[in-house]
Amino acid sequence: MPAQDFTADELAAGEALFARGWQFVKSVPSLEFLPSPDRTEMAFAGRSNVGKSSLINALVGQRGLARTSNTPGRTQELNYFEVPGAALFLVDMPGYGFAKAPKAKVDAWTRLVKDYLRGRPSLVRVFFLIDARHGLKPPDLGMMALMDEAAVSYQAVLTKADKIKPHELARILEKTAEEMAKHAAAYTVTLATSSQTGTGIPDLRAEIARLAAVHGALGGG
Ligand code: GDP
Repeated sequence: MPAQDFTADELAAGEALFARGWQFVKSVPSLEFLPSPDRTEMAFAGRSNVGKSSLINALVGQRGLARTSNTPGRTQELNYFEVPGAALFLVDMPGYGFAKAPKAKVDAWTRLVKDYLRGRPSLVRVFFLIDARHGLKPPDLGMMALMDEAAVSYQAVLTKADKIKPHELARILEKTAEEMAKHAAAYTVTLATSSQTGTGIPDLRAEIARLAAVHGALGGG
């Protein structure tokens, strides 16, 4: 169902990159703790409960690597992951959109995310997760505004594709692509994924490997 076809070589490169053992590097609560920006970086953003931890775990093929973060009071952190043999970081950004989050938490989130997006030259793409059942919600539009403002390249990735019927998925894919086309910083190709069934996971792996290769993060191999 994804709206982009990858070649067999690209899919194989994605598979190879994610067959290696991904590891947790560190949690970054504020920017002074960021690792030096000497590797290509890609981040995952989305509303709390969008399925971000499940998607990262599905990508790396490890259940517990990204921990679920759906506790409103939880500390807002950027979580860094790396893999041997690639000059690449994957970053799990703190979720957003809790109706009951205290203002101080929302402010802290905004400061961290805004500063991170603006000040991270090695960040080549944000995978912007959207629940396939719900589409874009007001908090997502806020996140898009931050990414637009920072001129960070982002790509919509639908999650929980297994929860809706194929024709509904086709419709939301099209609608999301239309919305992305209105934003200069957004990549118009939208991927549909399910961490539950594995739909779209090889494609997202291939996209990450392709981008990593473009940025010279995969070394000679
Ligand atoms: P996070 O807060 O964005 O990290 O979201 P989680 O990964 O913790 O997922 C939130 C809830 O959605 C959990 O109950 C997951 O089991 C469920 N979930 C996540 N991904 C999928 C999916 O692809 N399909 C289905 N059916 N449920 C999912």
